[in-house]
Order: sequence, then structure tokens, then C-alpha cells
Amino acid sequence: MALIVHKYGGTSMGSPERIRNVAKRVAKWARAGHQMVVVPSAMSGETNRLLALAKELSPAKPGIAYSRELDQLAATGEQASSALLAIALQAEGMESVSYSGWQVPIKTDSSFTKARIESIDDKRIRTDLSAGRVVIVTGFQGVDPEGNVTTLGRGGSDTSAVAVAAAMKAAECLIYTDVDGVYTTDPRVVPEARRLHTVSFEEMLEMASMGSKVLQIRSVEFAGKYKVPLRVLSSFTNWDIDINEEAKSGTLITFEEDENMEQAVVSGIAFNRDEAKISILGVPDTPGIAYNILGAVADANIEVDVIIQNISKEGKTDFSFTVHRNDYTKTLDLLKAKVTPKLGAAEVVGDAKICKVSIVGIGMRSHVGIASKMFRSLSEEGINIQMISTSEIKTSVVIDEKYMELAVRALHKAFDLDQPAA
Ligand code: ASP
Ligand code: MG
Repeated sequence: MALIVHKYGGTSMGSPERIRNVAKRVAKWARAGHQMVVVPSAMSGETNRLLALAKELSPAKPGIAYSRELDQLAATGEQASSALLAIALQAEGMESVSYSGWQVPIKTDSSFTKARIESIDDKRIRTDLSAGRVVIVTGFQGVDPEGNVTTLGRGGSDTSAVAVAAAMKAAECLIYTDVDGVYTTDPRVVPEARRLHTVSFEEMLEMASMGSKVLQIRSVEFAGKYKVPLRVLSSFTNWDIDINEEAKSGTLITFEEDENMEQAVVSGIAFNRDEAKISILGVPDTPGIAYNILGAVADANIEVDVIIQNISKEGKTDFSFTVHRNDYTKTLDLLKAKVTPKLGAAEVVGDAKICKVSIVGIGMRSHVGIASKMFRSLSEEGINIQMISTSEIKTSVVIDEKYMELAVRALHKAFDLDQPAA
């Protein structure tokens, strides 16, 4: 008998019929002898609906008072779905009880709309489990030191589930979602994309940070920190599929490079359309340029991703970096108003029609020539690379947005990702 955490996403909880299916699935696991803790998302569309209502009443610039109410409001979505799931389980003849984050309690800091979990008290949950109950805990939320309801940011139920699994020392945390696992790339772009049976936690982190939106990135960080065995699997299989088969399905996120791991050098191709490039041309090449430019950007709370500084010519250089597309205009305005006049730079130019494409794989640590293979494959397609950045297990290029799909398809093929793993 093991303690297992299940997490169900919004689509899986999307209607009474689907909630009933979730209940039947959970009941199957409980009847097989497992202690079950379930963390559901709000019914699909519910969080958006609630937040849109708030916006209708006040599009005003949000301050703390407003953010507090947003959390108070949005948290109700999961409170409702959790209670409905407990009711559905009771209808299946299982004893079940649901708790909101504050009732557990799941303690967080006070950063409304993006709170971080600080600790989870497992006493109440354990008491219920010992009494044979299935325990439902709301995703997405907790309570701050002042007793205010907080939420963990969009997609935060993944993090709730992993945090609960870590606190309970669960044998495994199963994330049920509307896809059946983690793929070598987005199957909508490359139909030959394959589901990975296993992916290392580090690779998952890179893929999650680059737009493979299967898991909230913070949940992956959490799983890595607390070594929570995590599996992503489909909630759209029949609920009565054999439990042993179900337990092996989907994608397992692993922590060790064990022998069973697929031996591919590159495990996946990630891409991201959400970036924009900014270049400052003709900056005097003197100490402090990077600090002057990026310091001002950081002070405005804008996150910078890829950075390039060219070699200088006649004492002047060009400096480029990427930011989230939402921060594009803000960054341009900031640089034009405050930074370039001070630096005496010639010009600020930008391009919001770029994208970032990356190859990811822990095998890159021990193999050479992987990046050059990537560059060759892009050049064969006539794709111009504007920027490059590398880490131990990833190489990313910034290219024109219109070549994104072509690049992803070419790289997927070049690294044999459409072939079944050896
Ligand atoms: N309901 C929240 C959202 O839509 C949290 C989640 O689903 O993970 O972002
Ligand atoms: Mg989600």
C-alpha cells in the first residue's frame, strides 16, 4: 500500500460527467489499497471567468488591495471543484473529505497572485487517510501569515500537487492532464513527435521554461528540490483501465540517469514565440555598458533572456538581448528615455517577430558536435541564426518567427527524434 497523490487539470474536471470519471478512477486506486490524496484544478474556464468578472468591475491598475481580492475570488474555483469531487466520490461509496488550502493549512508568503508555498501541515490529511478517507486538497492556493487566501499563479495546481506529495512523502505524484505525456516536441508542429517514456527532471525544467506548457515550471523545480517522483499521464483513458497498465503510462520524470533511460543525446525540441529582440547600436565600448543597460532593465522588473555583445569596432559596439514580448514596448521606451542618451548610443532597434528554438538533452554533456549539427541543419534549410545561447544541456537559437515550424521540424528529424528510441 502506497500513498499516492493525483492531480487533475481543469479539462479533466470540466463537467459533472468528467468529475464522475475522476471519482471512479480515484476510487479504483483507493480500492487497490492505496492511500489517496487528490488535488484538482478548477473546472476548465472557471478561473478565466472569475478573473474576467473582476476586470469588468475594475480594470484599474492593481495594487495589493486589489490583488488580495483577486486571490480571494480565484481560489473559489478550486474550492468548488474539490467539493464536487468529494461528493462524486461519496456517490461512488468512498468516504471522502475536501479541504481548501487554508484549512490544511498550506502556508505561503503574502505575494498575492504569485505566492510561494512555505510549509504544509500534514496532520489533518494523515488523520483522514488513517480513517480510510480519500482526501481532496484544493490546487492553486494557500494562506499567508495574516490568514489571507493566496494563489500560486496560473497553472499553480501542479505546484500544489507536487508540494503536497513532497510534504506527505508520497510514493508518486501523478499529474493527469489532457495530453498523454511529454513529447519530443509539440505534435501540432511535428506530427511524428513521440511520447517520451522518461525524461530527466533537468530536461523537463528546460522544456517547461521554454514553452512546453505541460507543467507549471515551479512544480518541476519543486519536484527537483524534494525529489518527488512525478508522472504526467492522460485523464482521457477509460477510468477502468488496468491499474498496473495505468501506473506505467505517460511520462515519468526521473532524477537519475539510470540505464533504463532512453539513450538519445537530444531528448526534445522546445520553442517559444513569446520573446522579442532589442539591440542598442553604437554603444561606446567601455566598462559598465552591460551594467548600465541591463541594470536599468532589471530595475524595471523586466526579465532578460539571451544576451549578446559584439566585438567593438572603432571603440563602439552593438548590444542585443531578448525580453518577453509583453515587455517589448516597455523596454524600448525605457532604453530610449533613460539609457541611450546617457550612454551616447546611436540607436535602439527592436524586433518582436522572432522566436527561440532549442534542443534539449542531458546527453549533450557527454557528446561533442551537437550544437554544430544543429547549426548545419538550420543552414541547410536556409534559416539565419540571429542569436545563440548555450547551457550544459541546451542550445538555443533566436531566429525569424516565420521559420519557427520549419526549424522545429528540421531539428526533430536531424536528431532522429521521430525514430523510436533504441
Ligand atoms: N485554476 C488555475 C488556473 O487556471 C490553476 C490551475 O489550473 O492549475 O490557472
Ligand atoms: Mg495546467
